Amino acid sequence: MNAMMKAAVFVEPGRIEVMDKKIPDVGPNDALVRITTTTICGTDVHILKGEYPVAKGLTVGHEPVGVIEKLGSAVVGYREGQRVIAGAICPNFNSYAAQDGAPSQDGSYLVPQGLCGCHGYKATAGWRFGNLIDGTQAEYVLVPDAQANLAPIPDGLTDEQVLMCPDIMSTGFKGAENANIRIGDTVVVFAQGPIGLCATAGARLLGATTIIAVDGNEHRLDVARKMGADATLNFKTCDVVDEVMKLTGGKGVDASIEALGTQATFASALRVLKPGGTLSSLGVYSEDLTIPLSAFAAGLGDHKINTALCPGGKERMRRLMNVVASGRVDLGLLVTHQYKLEDIVAAYELFSHQRDGVLKVAIKP
Ligand SMILES: [Zn+2]
Repeated sequence: MNAMMKAAVFVEPGRIEVMDKKIPDVGPNDALVRITTTTICGTDVHILKGEYPVAKGLTVGHEPVGVIEKLGSAVVGYREGQRVIAGAICPNFNSYAAQDGAPSQDGSYLVPQGLCGCHGYKATAGWRFGNLIDGTQAEYVLVPDAQANLAPIPDGLTDEQVLMCPDIMSTGFKGAENANIRIGDTVVVFAQGPIGLCATAGARLLGATTIIAVDGNEHRLDVARKMGADATLNFKTCDVVDEVMKLTGGKGVDASIEALGTQATFASALRVLKPGGTLSSLGVYSEDLTIPLSAFAAGLGDHKINTALCPGGKERMRRLMNVVASGRVDLGLLVTHQYKLEDIVAAYELFSHQRDGVLKVAIKP
């Protein structure tokens, strides 16, 4: 094995560059995975711009599809050469947070470093790749707690078919799951980026029968219809709240899913919600939110507001790949472009400006 590899590294705000890095050593609980396909997430763009802080020199990316190169001595039931994915979120499933049902919020591995004084709970700390440890936009990635996080790819599925499972599909589907959707529900999904599109598909799988997709990009609204939206609203050409209330006969929706992370979409998601309905928030917010009092019924509306971080772990990944294998959802529609790892700077340029109808870019080392 070569001792060195190529990796996309955060240098400073505005600069991610491909550099040579040492291929990491494999500890007993780790697996070294040779990346065959990875991708760029909206979160990586926040990192590139310096809006989300990570250490200089960190390899970015958190969506791995690859082949097991080397297994740690304690990892059993897998074999080298096996095709696998791992979730973007890689918790240690021994933690208090995981055993409490919140594995994505597991910060237990920070305790020995003195960085987490709360017995394992630390918001978002299950997200390690490209955040706290070297990530997946590289020739190799070290998967921590591999026994809990490595998920074999079923025969017959391509890299592109499972590329959305580690993050986009897991997050988008969680948005639908958190919306408490019942058969026959009316659901509105604000923003049809890759995660919003998966929330639309997830709402349909869970039994919503009227799904309203909102975006300002007609191409994305076209894809939304293919992913299960019954109606689409372009916020640039209509008042979305008025239109949703008309479509629901003034009742409001059973559930609204917010997949952007702005005050305006959060407020609209609440304004269109029926009393007793659920607002499922997936957005990553960058400033304080204000809750509109009338839409909130002064706190007396029996509204539920749920938030989520992408669920990880091998069982979650197995289920998502099962959905793909079933053919009930075609996420291949979301992979619109392909770049070599060495050209990833150009891929960031395309993706961050939403040029050329891009939804997701497959990156191949
Ligand atoms: Zn992501």
